[in-house]
This record gives sequence, structure tokens and C-alpha cells, in this order.
Amino acid sequence: MSRVKEVKLVLLGASGCGKSSIVLRFVTNQFKPFQEPTIGASFLTKTVVVDETAVKFQIWDTAGQEKYHTLTPMYYRGAKAAIIVYDITRKQTFGTVRDWIKELRQMGSEDTIIIVAGNKCDLEAQREVPTEEAKTEIEDCGGIFFETSAKTAQCINDMFVQITHHLPRD
Ligand code: GDP
Ligand code: MG
Repeated sequence: MSRVKEVKLVLLGASGCGKSSIVLRFVTNQFKPFQEPTIGASFLTKTVVVDETAVKFQIWDTAGQEKYHTLTPMYYRGAKAAIIVYDITRKQTFGTVRDWIKELRQMGSEDTIIIVAGNKCDLEAQREVPTEEAKTEIEDCGGIFFETSAKTAQCINDMFVQITHHLPRD
């Protein structure tokens, strides 16, 4: 194992959906019930070994607020993957996903892998977005769909491993 594959990745989506919590769970395996809001964007890295290849994720965690929107292209430009997060307990955050997919297709690079994470799936009783509906819509527009929970860690690692399987071979 001699080489490290570097993967620029960006998290997008409405505020409060759990973008920072997903990153924290993936990078440090922790969860904070009162995660402080992200200002602008933050940067973290994590290296994982998949199929004998070291993959270094360079993760840009964006704030999601509209006032920072003009800065967002800096983070998704050149990204190999974008994880768009919504909150399964807030239907309107799924609407934001559609806007992000559109923007990525128009302004981003063609080969950015788009992953959509329906987060907070531990809150089943408060669910507003049905799984099958979301999955069908996302897969129809070429995205990879997951339901995750940063709280219980459900599907967090799987999602990042899946991303490595979709990277172009080089
Ligand atoms: P961001 O604005 O998208 O970065 O969202 P945060 O990561 O700051 O999370 C917003 C709030 O949702 C925080 O209070 C988190 O503790 C909470 N949260 C994040 N992920 C989950 C989850 O999977 N389940 C539950 N129950 N709460 C979550
Ligand atoms: Mg955040």
C-alpha cells in the first residue's frame, strides 16, 4: 500500500439537518446532542483503508445558511463527491435537496458523485419524508441514496465506503 488516494468531498443541505454531526461521527465516532452551528465552513480529514487502498477524505462541511450561499461553489468545485443532507423529520429540507442537485449539475463538474443522506432516521416517530419516495426520486436523478443517523451511527461508515467504490479508477 504505497499510495494515498485523495478525495475532496463537500457536505451540503439545510441548516440543522446534521451535516456537522455526520462528519463528527465519521471522523471521531462521537455525537453531540447540542452540536454548535457551523460558521461559513469547516475542514476535516479522515483516512480509511478500503480494499487495500488508503483513501484520504478532505471534507468541507458547509454552513447551509442562505447568507453563505455565494461562497459554496468554492467548496463543491473540484469535489469528487457531494453529500447532500436532509432531515427525515422536516419535509422542507428534502425540497432543498432538489435545489442542490440542480445547482451541482449546472455549476459543478459533471462527474461529481452525488450522495443524498436522509439523516435522523433514529427519529422514526417524527418522520415526514417516506423512505421509498425519497429513494425513488434520488435514484431517478442519478444520486446514491442512504438513510443515516449520526446519533446511532447507522449507515455513516457504509456511506463513505460506498463513495470509495464509485470513485474513478486511476
Ligand atoms: P448541521 O447544521 O446540518 O451541521 O446540523 P448539526 O450537525 O449541527 O445538527 C443539528 C442538530 O441535530 C444538533 O442538535 C444535533 O445533535 C442533531 N442531530 C444531528 N444528527 C442527528 C441524528 O442523526 N439524530 C438525532 N436525533 N439528532 C441529530
Ligand atoms: Mg454544521
